[in-house]
Amino acid sequence: MEFDLIARIRSRATTRDDVVLGIGDDAALLRVPDGHELAVSTDTLNAGVHFPADTAVADLGWKALAVNLSDLAAMGATPAWCTLSLSLPQADARWLDAFLDGFLSLAQQHRVALVGGDTTRGPLSIGVTVHGLVPAGQALRRDRARAGDDVWITGTPGDAAAALARLGLVHGVDPAALSDLDTAQQAALRERLDRPTPRVATGLALRGLAHAGIDVSDGLCADLGHVLRASGVGARIELAQLPASEALRAACPDASTRWTLQLAGGDDYELCFTAPPSARAAVERALQNDAAGGARIGTIEAGTQLLLCAPDGSAWPLPRAGWQHFEMEPG
Ligand code: ADP
Ligand code: MG
Repeated sequence: MEFDLIARIRSRATTRDDVVLGIGDDAALLRVPDGHELAVSTDTLNAGVHFPADTAVADLGWKALAVNLSDLAAMGATPAWCTLSLSLPQADARWLDAFLDGFLSLAQQHRVALVGGDTTRGPLSIGVTVHGLVPAGQALRRDRARAGDDVWITGTPGDAAAALARLGLVHGVDPAALSDLDTAQQAALRERLDRPTPRVATGLALRGLAHAGIDVSDGLCADLGHVLRASGVGARIELAQLPASEALRAACPDASTRWTLQLAGGDDYELCFTAPPSARAAVERALQNDAAGGARIGTIEAGTQLLLCAPDGSAWPLPRAGWQHFEMEPG
């Protein structure tokens, strides 16, 4: 069974000139240009853990690649190649075609070649590895934030979490407590959950500008926390500065619900990065690489604390950060 599926994948796979040998042999052969480092990252999506059961198959394909490209964006790496490891309950060509529609449309957008993978029978699981290129020494790392840096975020965090919360899939947020939304607002939030946009162009533009960066997958507090620990610093975040979409504001009855989703919700795939105040104008220009833009939300400080400041200046308690996975009813 797997061979038919692999032939189907091979006939549609994206390619590029630096692929010496793609799908079909025991390993792919890829040409890494002189003076570059290879950035490699893997992420897996499992049914029942990483996406709601009603997720469209094409959206699964999109998201499986998007979350990986987001990791490359956070490193300031240019995406080049990927591999795809599929575990499928049955050999279903229609499912595969829909999956590839989403996966390959994003691969094409970013000129990423699909150069290999593995196809097996088993519970639905999608593993993707991406390979990117970065000029030697220029990658954006987590451990380079410095006291005095500004903290920035791209886009509007919290939208995907709001979509999950509406489905009752975020611990601690009662869907009944969220405000009713019109169809367009519902669709806007769900789109952010199912079709996240990896901020690749922004990540590249931040090379040489940002000190440290990470992509937000487990919630802003949890992921900024990784930067702080790796860099040995603290931060002060101004909640009033958190950019929020119109749909998110409409969904949240109060600011405290909104901040909880924005800080601890996850699935954002936005970039959180630090840069010196002297780079502010250049950062603003880098953010214009993506329509989603971004905002300055706080400051890196000496110490190890992450302080959240409410608009009235009081400290806001850290929400239970980083629900890494949501739980779903089996079946
Ligand atoms: P092997 O036994 O050498 O691992 P496979 O039969 O697993 O070979 O795969 C044959 C070829 O098809 C390999 O080049 C592999 O990289 C590619 N391939 C298998 N599954 C996928 C997939 N899901 N996506 C892309 N390429 C795949
Ligand atoms: Mg194999």
